[in-house]
Amino acid sequence: MDKDHIQVWQSCLQTIKENVKEQSFKTWFEPIRPLRLDEKILTIQVPNKFFYEWLEEHYIGILGSTLSKELGQGAKLEYLIPRQQKHTNYLKSNKSNNPIVSKDLERNYGQNTIRTENIKNPFVIPGIQKIKIDSQLNPEYTFDMYVEGDCNRLARSAGWAIAKRPGQTAFNPLMIFGSVGLGKTHLAHAIGNEVLDKFDDKTVLYVSSDRFTNQFIEALRNNAISDFVNFYQLVDVLIIDDIQFLENKQKTQEIFFHIFNHLHQKGKQLILTSDRPPKEMEGIEERLISRFKWGLSADLQLPSLETRMAIIDQKMIQDGVDLPPNVTEFISHNVRTNVRELEGILVSLIAQAALNQREIDIDLAREVISKFVDNISSEVNIELIQKIVAEYYDIPVEKLKEKTRKKMIVRARQLSMYLAKLMSDKSLKLIGKAFGGRDHSTVIHACRSVEDLLEKNTNFKDEVYRIEKKIKNVGGQH
Ligand code: ADP
Ligand code: MG
Repeated sequence: MDKDHIQVWQSCLQTIKENVKEQSFKTWFEPIRPLRLDEKILTIQVPNKFFYEWLEEHYIGILGSTLSKELGQGAKLEYLIPRQQKHTNYLKSNKSNNPIVSKDLERNYGQNTIRTENIKNPFVIPGIQKIKIDSQLNPEYTFDMYVEGDCNRLARSAGWAIAKRPGQTAFNPLMIFGSVGLGKTHLAHAIGNEVLDKFDDKTVLYVSSDRFTNQFIEALRNNAISDFVNFYQLVDVLIIDDIQFLENKQKTQEIFFHIFNHLHQKGKQLILTSDRPPKEMEGIEERLISRFKWGLSADLQLPSLETRMAIIDQKMIQDGVDLPPNVTEFISHNVRTNVRELEGILVSLIAQAALNQREIDIDLAREVISKFVDNISSEVNIELIQKIVAEYYDIPVEKLKEKTRKKMIVRARQLSMYLAKLMSDKSLKLIGKAFGGRDHSTVIHACRSVEDLLEKNTNFKDEVYRIEKKIKNVGGQH
């Protein structure tokens, strides 16, 4: 036991860094200061109570396991919160009833900091009957937490059907594909969790294809291939995430082929995810690809504006944070890449508010988003947008405000409204007014039409991108 508190915390941080997202690490772990080490109690200072609650709620698992790795059994984490906390109003009161944090008591013992039973066994070799396999599922990734939208309806409902009758539907295998951050992993876990919930006797196993590959290599090295295969054959629902990583790994594909066939013949369920559809996979054996197509391939698309708003709402309810509706709308409009990025922004937003004791409002949201997304500008007015769009399409500006229903003009008008919403953060009402006194529902409709078109038409997307850039350039010169 010669490490001091700083060294112990440094070692913990190293492991934590590898296991949490970069943004979260910066936000939640970098501000922590190690203060002292008494036997097995490490005391850390966190900026405020909100921080402490957030850590306990979201990172208790990793804090616990890294600390016990460092200090052995019985390790404890003690938080120290500096005094003079103003109360921030976006914290729902149910949180401040937390019994471990009392008003003037500054030391808080993490309730569940140490949970040794949480240690996961990645690979259990059978031998003894009735072995219990740790499913490796994340209990947070449930259907309840998975917001439904057009972007995921097919995959979600197929997943739901499978969870009710694993192995007994036509969706075997279920192949969920889509690009990064759109919810493949979440959905795959949700199916697994639902099965565990409904069926006591079913064995579910989640594994990434990387892990699968590593276990296979390990088994090869230890001459334990048959144990490896036997183990996988015990499973009722096998979830393999990111199978694109099996590309060009011929031996692993062979063993997977074998396991796949065995499970499929026995009516066991297979769930696979990938970042592209089967037909676009390269370096994967044809016979495997043809099996991937046996069941259902369902893709996940970018969520629409409404779905993004619903996702934000749900996450904020879950975290007990009240986000003003205009902030939700602002974020949904400006963050259009994927759900993971959306989450990253929410986390930073809450952290920034907590750290700086600020209200969550549009200004703060704008600051946070501008660090992630570069298409947000500060002072762009509607007139400028109208002018540039009209120039681009070579039509007179007045046409945007008139009632003309010519297709070209409608398109330009809708796009200007959309950009006004996106770039100016004027209210829907004001935007409508600037377009010949139209009402806010017309603006909403315009935004939706543009969003739809953006999703379908890449030429249009490029066009919009160029126009946005122009507006920003000109806007910046004023
Ligand atoms: P992928 O595996 O496709 O890269 P993930 O499943 O890891 O994406 O999803 C990224 C993050 O977004 C996760 O935290 C997940 O909970 C969240 N997420 C994705 N889709 C949804 C959804 N429809 N509803 C709620 N959260 C979602
Ligand atoms: Mg994933």
